[in-house]
Parts: sequence; structure tokens; C-alpha cells
Amino acid sequence: MDYYRQTQLKDYNSFKTEAQAKIFCKPSTIQELRQCLSDFPDEKKLIIGGGCNIFFTKDFDGLVIHPYIKGLREISDEEEEDEDIFLEVNASEDWDEFVAYCVERGFAGLENLSYIPGTVGAAPIQNIGAYGAEVKDVIREVVAVDMETGETVSFSNAECEFGYRDSVFKRTNKYLVISVVFHLKRTFVYIPKYADLNKELEDFEEPSIQDVRDAVIRVRQRKLPDEKVLPNAGSFFKNPYISKEQADKILIDYPNLPAYPLKDGLIKTSAAFLIDKAGYKGKRNDNVGTYPNQPLIIVNYGTSDGNEILSFMHEVQKAVKDTFGIELEPEVRIF
Ligand SMILES: Cc1cc2nc3c(=O)[nH]c(=O)nc-3n(C[C@H](O)[C@H](O)[C@H](O)COP(=O)(O)OP(=O)(O)OC[C@H]3O[C@@H](n4cnc5c(N)ncnc54)[C@H](O)[C@@H]3O)c2cc1C
Repeated sequence: MDYYRQTQLKDYNSFKTEAQAKIFCKPSTIQELRQCLSDFPDEKKLIIGGGCNIFFTKDFDGLVIHPYIKGLREISDEEEEDEDIFLEVNASEDWDEFVAYCVERGFAGLENLSYIPGTVGAAPIQNIGAYGAEVKDVIREVVAVDMETGETVSFSNAECEFGYRDSVFKRTNKYLVISVVFHLKRTFVYIPKYADLNKELEDFEEPSIQDVRDAVIRVRQRKLPDEKVLPNAGSFFKNPYISKEQADKILIDYPNLPAYPLKDGLIKTSAAFLIDKAGYKGKRNDNVGTYPNQPLIIVNYGTSDGNEILSFMHEVQKAVKDTFGIELEPEVRIF
């Protein structure tokens, strides 16, 4: 396997910011991956999949691993009913191609997660979610390599400690996911969960799994910028969890505040709503701005300097803090 020095990362992040990796490699087997871990035991490590949830503000002084480990296999489990289907998918498979593969075969469970850019290996890292679904609901197991010891470790769903845009992998930064085992169903039933999607499907009496995928894609294409045309990394901030008292106070002036009560007494609200009401919907400072159709997305109109995006991010955070007293936490990983 080749190692590349001082590699430009602009084409490896969907925000298209410039940064050099001190060392860069592209292992295509687990053996090659172990080799690069043992060749550079003391270097800091960063994994890049599709680069759709990261951007750079400075060079990376360490080893960037861009895995190219492909493959998919159906596994049978004699203890389970025929209704259940298990697929082990390697980390570098394209996420949406995998969703399309499942939908074509009628394997249910992933259709609401259609058209999210990136790789299969990154899906469990932030427990990707959309239209009322989260990937944690269909993951049976995650297989990863411990980057300190080179050992292969399997995580059950519970051991992944999934949360809202969170997992043990995101918190520890210690594991490179090599494959994910999904548990899907052969029977599909549409369960209305999300208003935008229900509306898109209102003409369908009993939407098929393909109808749902097509509807998700139409809604996303209308609302979200294509990162290949207008660089961005999807939702920039997480939706904040606030106390009931805080929500009640805001509701006095903003009765339309989206407020979803959670089990622990907290309220989940909408970062997009807060950004909009703080005056930042469609706001643009030279090269950086929020997307007019969806203020939660910060878009890059033409800078290669991640610090411009970072300054704009701070500005949005300050506006929301000053208006509502709420700290917005980035969902995007910033290096
Ligand atoms: C237009 C647009 C829309 C989006 N919509 C959504 C959405 O609806 N829902 C949602 O949840 N996200 C969304 N995202 C964010 C992004 O698509 C997801 O987070 C996706 O999973 C990123 O995949 P990736 O391969 O590009 O990960 P990367 O950006 O390469 O990496 C993301 C993080 O995962 C780590 N990582 C990557 N691969 C591995 C691996 N194999 N093992 C261990 N760690 C790894 C990286 O180090 C990094 O910390 C959107 C992004 C864009 C640009």
C-alpha cells in the first residue's frame, strides 16, 4: 500500500475547504489497514469516508485513513424467521447505493434514510437519521478495528450506545468501522411519522417501499442543496434539547416554536426555527451563508478557507444565544 505525504484534502470533504494531510493512505483490505496502523503507531489518526460530515480549518498533522473496503453479503440466521433479513455491508460501500439495493429487493427499514450522502461505515458514527428514522433501529452489529491494538471488535446494538447523532464511536474516536450488519424486514408497511413525507405521499393509498424512497428523494431535492454543486455538510447544528421552563418562556413570544417532549422531561426543539427567528435564514456573508430553503445548512459559496465557515458558525451561534439563550452545538465534525 502506498503512503502519500502532504496530501490535499479539498476533494475529500464536501465543504471543499483546503488542508494538507501529513500522511494519507487508502487501505483496501483489513490486512492493509492493520499494516498502516502498525507502520504509524504514534501518529494522530483521522478516518475520512465520503467527507460529507466534516471540514477542515487547518492542516492535519497525522495519518489520514481513507478506507476502500468494499463488499456486501447476505447472512442467514437459522434462529430467525424468514421475515428477517441480515446483510453485512463493508464500510466503504456508498450509503445511498446500498439503500437503493435494499429498496429494489423489498428489504424494508432503510427507505426513509434514502439519499443521505456518505458511506456505510460512517452511518453508525453519528447514528444518521431523517424523516423519523434512525439507522440504530436497523443495526444488529458493528464490526470495527481498534486503532490502538489493531484488534477486531464486534459491537452489539446496545454496545454502540447510540443516541441522537451520537454513538460510542463518535465519543471515543478509537475505532475504525469495517462493516455493519443490518437487520431488515421482508414485509413493508408505511408508518406515517413525518409531516413533510406524509404530505408528499398523500395521493398514495398504500405507498410501496419504492414510493417512499422516491418521495424522500423528491422532498430532499427540493429542500437541500446538492453538495456537489454548492458545498455543504448537511445540517450544521444538532437540534437542541432544552428544559420545559426554557421552552415555556420562549413560547410566550414564539408560539410556533416546535417543541417535542422527550422521555426525560426535556424538550427537543428545532435549530432551523431558532436560526430563522434569530435573523439568519438565507443570510450570507461574502463566501458563506445559510441555505435559503433550510437555514440549518451552512453553504460555502466560494471559499477554500474553513476559518471563514467557522467565523460564520460562531456568528450564527451568537445570534441564537443572544435571542433565545440557547447554545447550538455543531453536528458537523470540525478539524
Ligand atoms: C447534503 C447533505 C445532506 C445530509 N443529510 C443528512 C441527514 O439527513 N441525516 C444525517 O444524519 N446526516 C446527513 N448528512 C451528513 C452526512 O451525510 C452523514 O453524516 C454521513 O454518514 C457522512 O458519511 P461520510 O462517509 O461522508 O462520513 P465522513 O464525513 O467521512 O466522516 C464523518 C465522521 O465519521 C468518521 N468516520 C467515517 N468513516 C468511518 C469509519 N469507517 N470508521 C470510523 N469512523 C468513520 C469520520 O472520522 C468523521 O468523524 C448530510 C450531509 C450532506 C452534505
